[in-house]
Amino acid sequence: MISIIGAGPAGSYTAYLLAKTGKKVQLFEKKKEVGKPIQCTGLVTESIKQFLELKKEFIKNKITKVKINSKNNSTTFNLKNPELVLNREKFDKHLVNLAIKAGAKLHLAHKFIQKQNNQLIFQTENGIKKIKTDILIGADGPGSNTAKLISKKKRKYILGMQAILKLKTAPTTYQVFLGKSYGTFSWIVPESENKVRAGTLSNNPRLFKEFISKLNGKITEYQAGPIPIYNNTKLQKDNIYLVGDAASQIKNSTGGGIIYSLSSAKILANSIIKKRNYQKDFNKKLKKELMAHKLINKILKRFKDKDYDTLIKFCSKQKVKNIIETADREKPLKMLLKLLLAEPRFILFTKKLFL
Ligand SMILES: Cc1cc2nc3c(=O)[nH]c(=O)nc-3n(C[C@H](O)[C@H](O)[C@H](O)COP(=O)(O)OP(=O)(O)OC[C@H]3O[C@@H](n4cnc5c(N)ncnc54)[C@H](O)[C@@H]3O)c2cc1C
Repeated sequence: MISIIGAGPAGSYTAYLLAKTGKKVQLFEKKKEVGKPIQCTGLVTESIKQFLELKKEFIKNKITKVKINSKNNSTTFNLKNPELVLNREKFDKHLVNLAIKAGAKLHLAHKFIQKQNNQLIFQTENGIKKIKTDILIGADGPGSNTAKLISKKKRKYILGMQAILKLKTAPTTYQVFLGKSYGTFSWIVPESENKVRAGTLSNNPRLFKEFISKLNGKITEYQAGPIPIYNNTKLQKDNIYLVGDAASQIKNSTGGGIIYSLSSAKILANSIIKKRNYQKDFNKKLKKELMAHKLINKILKRFKDKDYDTLIKFCSKQKVKNIIETADREKPLKMLLKLLLAEPRFILFTKKLFL
């Protein structure tokens, strides 16, 4: 029996992949309903198509332009492949239904507390429940209880804070704001021509408040959640595995985790089915991309407003634009190499690593 904790994208997709090969899978979710409350902007690249068939019901909008703003500069990219804005509630429900149809058993309102030998202990509405398992997969998000069974190393987080606003906007343009007053960055992602998801990635809530108040829209909802910072996380110990946010499989430069959760779920399911070493398979296939995001984030953290102005000046060159507009943005290493060839002055930013 394989037990998966957490019915978010990572857990449900792993459950689906394992159940469809005939494995006995049970999926435990602490909430009474999958997909609620939403704590996500839901922006993904089209590479999500590699994992599942896209249904109209969970695509809220398509983004074809990205406008990047610094204090004194801005530039717009016309994306060859649009980015998609997901309805996370519908997306998560779709994934869990795929898992159930493939044969996984879903247990709602089961909060995983701890593991004693081969027994998992859950808090349920009817009290404590003990369930036997052979394999335990922690897909229990940023505050993962399962992760504590693998490593006691303290994790670091950054806060994603977002508001849903009624605001007139160009419906297919996603805006990014860079600079000291925007944390790691701030964003406006349109859902439609009069509704946006706007937020800030920062541990300073004041920056979020100031950003949102400047937008002058009618706020209809607030959402926030911790985003784990990827730091070469240990992924397995004996028959316990981690996937998704529980494994900090996050792009440190953007806080995005949906695509890497699905990629990692695929690697994990394959490793279990073929009795391979998950950590080694993950390191071979994804670690270097996450390390590239870690490096980009390390450099950007030391940027001043004038550095962002220079970055945007370099990005405005047509040669550079062509690369950004057409590259597979899930593969930053390849993109960075091409960018360096097109604009060698990008290398100057690496000096920040030694400050
Ligand atoms: C404000 C914000 C904006 C974001 N925007 C984007 C974006 O635009 N694009 C992107 O790619 N990523 C974004 N992310 C990150 C993205 O939401 C996560 O990377 C993604 O949800 C990870 O999926 P997951 O399945 O690993 O974890 P989760 O989606 O967190 O799912 C974990 C599940 O486990 C359950 N659970 C937790 N503990 C237990 C327990 N003890 N027992 C049982 N169940 C448990 C939870 O209830 C939850 O359902 C954003 C995050 C935030 C906070």
